[in-house]
Amino acid sequence: MAKQMLFVYNPRAGKAQIRSNLLDIIDIFVKAGYEVTAYPTQAPGDAVKAVQERRAGYDMVVCSGGDGTLDEVVTGMMKSEERLPVGYVPAGSTNDFANSLKIPKNMLLAADVVVNGRTFACDVGKFNNGIFIYVAAFGIFTDVSYGTPQDTKNVLGHAAYLIEGVKRLPAVRAYPLKITCNDEVIEGEFLYGMVTNSHSVGGFRGITGQNVALDDGVFEVTLIRKPTNPLDINNIIRALVDKRVKSEHIYTFTTRKLKVESEDPVAWTLDGEFGGEHQAVVIESWHQALAIRVPQEMG
Ligand SMILES: [Mg+2]
Repeated sequence: MAKQMLFVYNPRAGKAQIRSNLLDIIDIFVKAGYEVTAYPTQAPGDAVKAVQERRAGYDMVVCSGGDGTLDEVVTGMMKSEERLPVGYVPAGSTNDFANSLKIPKNMLLAADVVVNGRTFACDVGKFNNGIFIYVAAFGIFTDVSYGTPQDTKNVLGHAAYLIEGVKRLPAVRAYPLKITCNDEVIEGEFLYGMVTNSHSVGGFRGITGQNVALDDGVFEVTLIRKPTNPLDINNIIRALVDKRVKSEHIYTFTTRKLKVESEDPVAWTLDGEFGGEHQAVVIESWHQALAIRVPQEMG
């Protein structure tokens, strides 16, 4: 009997590039022995329901779209009683997570990885009652990273780009926060924070730190304190350009769990999508919770 696949795709993702590839993608799945049920998402949030409320009997769920669509499919899978392997055919513009997993940009090669690759047990982030796959962030750079086309980023480069953000610092809002982590409490005013399980964020490779592993049960955390004078601003810029770990204004560390509290609500982004405003956030690593299909040679 043929194996059963639920294929959930966002027809609008990445300039609708799936339209010219859909027949070939399904053909690859069928040739590998799957009977495919295709489901084009109709609205935001739709993919969560499609996966969570799927009928019994599927062997695999495959997702095509940007990071937001993948986030929804994984959310649906984490809410399901039976957790199945997830395949990912990226179609968005950034696809940080796919890059971290070495999933090809070419949709047909990615489809081949889904059926001929191997399963990798990847960590998932718990964010209060929700989830994220590779980044939860607040503050200044969140809009900078996600609002700019990849071409511009490639031309400007990582450093120039961050400097652009830092230049705006004096005018930018800071968040008074209490952060509890690894039995330590950090208090102060912060411009930016990101909790990541990825080699790149917003298309920038290496921004999240060294020795990143997606299945080690820990996140990389980066926090930037509010500068108080122009000299501070220069120091922050220099630390970002050098990718220096230790700086008076930048904290980087790894953790399994993190609590962020504030008097005023703070807006978060989860995997590049709006994640709500929160006064208290508990972020926790869900160790190897997601079975995702990756290339055989993925380390
Ligand atoms: Mg990790």
